[in-house]
Amino acid sequence: MIRVDGVTAVYRERAALRDVSLQVDAGERVAIIGPNGAGKSTLLRVIAGLLHPTTGTVELGGDRVDRLDRMAVARRLSVVPQTPLLPFATTVEEVVALGRLPHEHPIRGMRPGDRAAVAAAIERVGVGHLLGRDARELSMGERQLVLLAMAVAQAAPVLVLDEPTVHLDLRHQVEVMDLVGDLNTRDGTTILAVLHDLGLAAHFFARLVLLDRGRVVADGAPAEVLAPERIREVFGVDPAFVRLGA
Ligand code: ADP
Ligand code: MG
Repeated sequence: MIRVDGVTAVYRERAALRDVSLQVDAGERVAIIGPNGAGKSTLLRVIAGLLHPTTGTVELGGDRVDRLDRMAVARRLSVVPQTPLLPFATTVEEVVALGRLPHEHPIRGMRPGDRAAVAAAIERVGVGHLLGRDARELSMGERQLVLLAMAVAQAAPVLVLDEPTVHLDLRHQVEVMDLVGDLNTRDGTTILAVLHDLGLAAHFFARLVLLDRGRVVADGAPAEVLAPERIREVFGVDPAFVRLGA
């Protein structure tokens, strides 16, 4: 579903990703972890076709992402970005409805199926109480949920999320992780999520990919990837600070 092959990505002569290869199969659920600046967001940007790698290739559903137009990418992949910026839409329902743009009829706009998808996403993410509000006045956590509802309405086969729980209280963190799990197991959506919370990652994901200084340094089951010596080496903390498991 996602195939990253030998990707190096450079910002102003500094490499943020170095020879990264990663394959995520249809229906998989994968978390990307790693310290600040490791290249996690850059990897998602490259996968979404928003940043072109210097070397290497990215394929989405068998096609090179740099050969797909933005709408074609959006039908294959929904993105929940790290910074919940809501640029121009005003009400919460308008923001969620943006998720339907890639599916809309070019002239007739939203059809009944699009409206149903928007209503279902609002219900599923639990943002019904925010309807009618100006999205620019919402708290960061509320914006994060609205953007998640937009991505759910988009209903692409792949969902990528960049630290989707960072602004949320504990209850909402768990609810979002449960929803992501449900999208994966019930709807078959392929999930790739950057998570800063190692405990959440280990609890909700069977496969973790650890990035450090632009490289994949481990890829596998949580117990393996988060071995104490690796936590000490990569995160520079005493492994006792990282509580894993339920
Ligand atoms: P992470 O998401 O793992 O914290 P990022 O992918 O955002 O890391 O960043 C990886 C590296 O690239 C960091 O050193 C960061 O400072 C740098 N970087 C990220 N975005 C830009 C940018 N737009 N211009 C220049 N450097 C950037
Ligand atoms: Mg980031």
